[in-house]
Amino acid sequence: MKIYNTLTKKIDDFIPNEEGKVKLYTCGPTVYHYAHIGNIRNYIGHDILDKTLRYLGYDVTRAMNITDVGHLTSDSDSGEDKMEVAKKREHKSAMEIAKFYTDAFFEDFKKVNCKVPEIVSPATENIDQYIKIIEKLLKDDYAYISGGNIYFDISKLDNYYCLTNQDSNLVVGARDSVEDDSNKRNQADFVLWFTTSKFENHELLWDSPWGKGYPGWHIECSGISIKYLGEYLDIHGGGVDNIFPHHTNEIAQSESYLGHKWCNYWFHNEHLIDESGKMSKSKGQILTVSVLEENGYNPLSFRFMCLGSHYRKQLLFSYDNLDQAQNTYNKLVKKINSLSTDGELDKDKFNEYDSKFKECLENDLNTSNALAVLYELLKDNDVNDKTKRELISSFDKVLSLDLIQENVSEEHNLDEEILKLIEERKEAKKNKDFQKADQIRDDLLARGIKLIDTREGTTYEVIKD
Ligand SMILES: [Zn+2]
Repeated sequence: MKIYNTLTKKIDDFIPNEEGKVKLYTCGPTVYHYAHIGNIRNYIGHDILDKTLRYLGYDVTRAMNITDVGHLTSDSDSGEDKMEVAKKREHKSAMEIAKFYTDAFFEDFKKVNCKVPEIVSPATENIDQYIKIIEKLLKDDYAYISGGNIYFDISKLDNYYCLTNQDSNLVVGARDSVEDDSNKRNQADFVLWFTTSKFENHELLWDSPWGKGYPGWHIECSGISIKYLGEYLDIHGGGVDNIFPHHTNEIAQSESYLGHKWCNYWFHNEHLIDESGKMSKSKGQILTVSVLEENGYNPLSFRFMCLGSHYRKQLLFSYDNLDQAQNTYNKLVKKINSLSTDGELDKDKFNEYDSKFKECLENDLNTSNALAVLYELLKDNDVNDKTKRELISSFDKVLSLDLIQENVSEEHNLDEEILKLIEERKEAKKNKDFQKADQIRDDLLARGIKLIDTREGTTYEVIKD
């Protein structure tokens, strides 16, 4: 497999540290607000990477953090703690905020068929790990205490800017928001631990060898990754906005702590943009997957739209583009589900198309070409329907677009059957046969179908699978 590596600035052959195994870490959400669809595009990119590696036969272990403390409103050490901002806005405790937005995040994450990583760990549950790392960094002189806080000293490294080469716009842009902190030896030094809190009444505080305090944002990803995935990481993923300062700082502190190279491949997704520029939480209503759904869109047509473009290219979001994607997606699903289930599996054709599909993904996750292979397959008259179905079902392990809808006809039949029973019950009630009417209601309830009587008539809801 070949993959673009931000560290080398080129497409590299992927060689894991241990043959056949991949340790993958991806930065998770800061749960102070909803994740907008731009964030979700990033997670779809990680999901495709994760599933492609598995499809190619790697044994993948993936970890992701949930940031519930320490992330300031700028990615550098300025601004307010995002959780504190949310507390003021919503008059709730930090943990209530974190719980609410973590649940909301995973709801949307699952709606676009992203697979939950094996390890999901909130920042607040690994405080001991950060303290252990910071103690060693202090001892080895990579970190210093100043004004009560603990900072990482970037001048101790020859190659602090290894991800950006220092000339990148990413650095300049991020620099603008770095506030003058007279405690720092170098302005690009970053906080590992806030001991004398910058903020009055910070809710989340832990005991540390340096007094009560709380961790900086960057240390949590290094801490969680090393704790759960070990000292040698294969791939670290995030959005392009994480390259600087977040991932740059992760490398600085992790490698200084470990004393060797930490992660070989750095994977970054480009932004989803709207007509006004980068999607952001600060502009008016937050456009989430759930909002798209409320507006009548299938979340998977958003996923389909994302897969139509390369993860390293900016993608323009507009409702026109989404309408188009939804139409194309619906047509595709309809076409696939009109394939018959007859015939024998043609193993040669299966292998031929499966190889083509893999080749696209192995080429730096070219999902739009992978979709083109799917269309080519549908048009190929030399492949029987059974083989097409098997292939598409296999491709969908990566694409995760629910392309084969086995239950469509079953669901349809169920619906018809229930409507018939509702009609029978209505008739029974009319004939004052309440025993029969109640029997129908109870029988359906036992099957997990609850009837709801309203003035307009009877509807139903499925209360269990
Ligand atoms: Zn991170």
